[in-house]
Amino acid sequence: MSKGASLDYKCRRCGKVVKDSHVPDGTLAVVYLTIGAQFPKEWGDTAVNMISSHHCSDGNIGVIDLIGCEFDK
Ligand SMILES: [Zn+2]
Repeated sequence: MSKGASLDYKCRRCGKVVKDSHVPDGTLAVVYLTIGAQFPKEWGDTAVNMISSHHCSDGNIGVIDLIGCEFDK
């Protein structure tokens, strides 16, 4: 059974963990992202990547990496 989850990213610069996008299946989402595959069409226009940018609280810009997912409770 698929389990929804939020994707967690961690900022390389400030260390903040950001819950960015919600996906219908956390396990598959992490697998797809780590192998560089596209998400299934039925998930909609969810544009997520392994890395992204982060507006750190000190006003600078960091880079955030996917560190995993947290399943819905
Ligand atoms: Zn940051």
